[in-house]
Amino acid sequence: MKCPCGSQKDYKECCAPLHAGAAKAETAEALMRSRYSAFAKNQMQYLKDTTDPQTLQNIDEEANQEWADRAKFLKLEILKAEEKGTKGTVEFKAFYSVDDEEYIHHEVSTFRKQNGEWFFKSGKVKEAKA
Ligand SMILES: [Zn+2]
Repeated sequence: MKCPCGSQKDYKECCAPLHAGAAKAETAEALMRSRYSAFAKNQMQYLKDTTDPQTLQNIDEEANQEWADRAKFLKLEILKAEEKGTKGTVEFKAFYSVDDEEYIHHEVSTFRKQNGEWFFKSGKVKEAKA
């Protein structure tokens, strides 16, 4: 089965080891991809584990869970990925559908590297445009 993150690799050779805690994302982009596939695979604990603890306080876990339960994750498109030292920025479009309606979530996420591990720091949603 191909990984939901769009890498064209098998899930077990792509994001699965990250979800299982057997490997760490080496780049901010890899973390972003693995977080998208975590939604698709209902790996909510992984989403928590890779979120900056300070950010976690502001995250509505129930809303995330509900979204993961209801949405079908169609594909992920990385538009831009940059890293500068311990800071990473990834701009992406996540394509998903709810009740057969298709949506695009366009976001610029920032990531922070701490002790060699990448964490999701914050996200800024861009105006949705098809
Ligand atoms: Zn993947």
